[in-house]
Amino acid sequence: MSGSAESIVRALNEKIMACTLCGLSQTRHLAVPGEGLTSAKIMFIGEGPGRQEDLDGRPFVGRAGKFLDECLQSIGLRREQVFITNIVKCRPSEKSGNWVKDRKPVADEIAACAPYLDSQIELIEPEIICTLGDTARSEIFKRFGIEEDTIGHVHGRLFLAGRVKVMPLYHPAAALYDNTLHQIIMIDFQSLSRVLSQSNLTSF
Ligand code: URA
Repeated sequence: MSGSAESIVRALNEKIMACTLCGLSQTRHLAVPGEGLTSAKIMFIGEGPGRQEDLDGRPFVGRAGKFLDECLQSIGLRREQVFITNIVKCRPSEKSGNWVKDRKPVADEIAACAPYLDSQIELIEPEIICTLGDTARSEIFKRFGIEEDTIGHVHGRLFLAGRVKVMPLYHPAAALYDNTLHQIIMIDFQSLSRVLSQSNLTSF
């Protein structure tokens, strides 16, 4: 990515930080544009910031993020070498008694945020997009015209969508409570590693 493209990403981040396009702007502490290498070959896309991300303004810095870091390390990658972002850039939350808990983003919030993700994909031009969890999988499948299917069928498989390849993965948060999923995610990262080491990528 050229220096000027870098500055376009910076300007985009500032726009996201100040965004008021949907109601999430009223409940967030900080918007979380995403971070990493702006010339990254791999982009990871999660659902939306959680509590810790909302406080820090950085994606995947809570417990799920620690596991994502572990998965990256297991295939010799650091988060500085990839780009990590989310479908929505502000935390979707709701009150539950005295607590505020995470919730899934709704269609209007996803639609309001979509141009930001489109711009990020356009500017960074990743070769592979890895979706984390079903919300991201579903949105990215729609965007790239990939036929809808369940995460149980498609996780760890590579889909060719024009110039971009898409690999859906389970959400790292799911692995925190499920040892089987933990192992599946680690195995899927090995598949990702094989894909990365192949010079000629093909669809499975
Ligand atoms: N879960 C997500 O989907 N994204 C984050 O940034 C953190 C947790």
